[in-house]
Amino acid sequence: MEDNLKKYIDLFEKLAKSPKESIETHKKETGKGAVGVFPVYAPEELIDAAGYLPVGIWGGQKVISKARALFPPFACSIVQVLTEFMLEGAYDNLDAVLMSMPCDTLKCFTQKWKGKAAPIIFVHPQNKTLDAANVFLVEEYKLVKEKLEKALNVEISNEAIHKSIEVYNENRQIMRVFADVAALYPQVVDPIVRHNVFKSRWFITKKKHTEYVKGFIEELKKEKPAPWDGKKVVLTGIMTEPKALLEIFKSEKLAVVADDLAQESRQIRVDTPAGSDPLHRLAGWWYNLDGCSLSMNAEKAKGKLFEDLAKKYGADAVIVCMMKFCDPE
Ligand code: SF4
Repeated sequence: MEDNLKKYIDLFEKLAKSPKESIETHKKETGKGAVGVFPVYAPEELIDAAGYLPVGIWGGQKVISKARALFPPFACSIVQVLTEFMLEGAYDNLDAVLMSMPCDTLKCFTQKWKGKAAPIIFVHPQNKTLDAANVFLVEEYKLVKEKLEKALNVEISNEAIHKSIEVYNENRQIMRVFADVAALYPQVVDPIVRHNVFKSRWFITKKKHTEYVKGFIEELKKEKPAPWDGKKVVLTGIMTEPKALLEIFKSEKLAVVADDLAQESRQIRVDTPAGSDPLHRLAGWWYNLDGCSLSMNAEKAKGKLFEDLAKKYGADAVIVCMMKFCDPE
C-alpha cells in the first residue's frame, strides 16, 4: 500500500479513537471548548458557529454497573453505556450538551442527566407533513441558540450560522463522494477504515475533516480499482460497534459498499437547503431527512431505499445491525 494512503488510514483511526485529544487541540488552537452532541441528530452548525467544537457522544466499550441504578437492563445498550460514562464524569470536560429526544430511552436519559455540562434539550417534530412542524422546530432551535449563547457566553450571529451551514454542507457532499469512491476500493477501504472515516467526523471540525477526506480521496483515485472476490453489503441500523463486529465483516471478506446507519450516512444523506433565515434552513434539513426510524414517514420509505442502494452498488445483501433493545429500529 502507498505510504500516503497508509498515512490517511492511520490519521482517521487516530481521530476516531481520541476525542479527548481533539478537544485539547481545539482548546489550544481557539481558546474555546467543546459541546457534546448526543444521538441522533442536532443542529451542530450552531455550535460550530459559536467557535466551539461539536463532539458526537455515542458511547464505547464499558462494563455496566453504576448505570443499573438509573436504567433497567432492557434499556438499549447505547443509553446504558452513556449513563455509565456520565456517572463516571467522562463528559465533565464539555461546556454544554445538546440532547434531542428521538426515542423513549433518550427521553428518559435527558431527565437523568447528572453531568456538569449544561444540558440543552429539544425535540424534533415527527409529523413532518404539517407546516406547523417546521414552525415548531424553528422555535425549538431559537431556544437551543439562546441556551447555547448563555451557557457559552457568546453571541451567535446569523452570518456565522450561514457560514457553518456551508461548511457542513461541503462536508456532507464530500462524504457522499467518499462513500462512492470507497465502494470501488474495498481492498484499501475495509469496513474498519470506512467506519473510522465516518466516525472521525464527530470529533474534529468539519472544515478539517473535509480537508482530510479530500486528500484521502485523491490518494485513493491514484490506485487502480481491482475486482473484489468477496461479497458486497449495505449496512443499516444505528451504528456498527464494537470494532470486533467490523473485524468479523473484514475477515469474512464483506465489502461495505453503502450504509444507512444513523451514526454514518443518515447524517450526510441530505444537505441543508438554501434560504435567508439560518434557523429555517436548519429546520429544513430535518424536514428533508428521510429513511430514518427516528424521523417518521408514514409511507415507510425504507424498503425502497435498500432496494435502490443494493441495485446502485451491486450489493449481495443488506445487513441489519440491530442495537440491543432499540425500539425505533
Ligand atoms: S439505540 Fe435506539 S433506543 Fe437506544 S438511543 Fe438509539 S434510537 Fe434510542
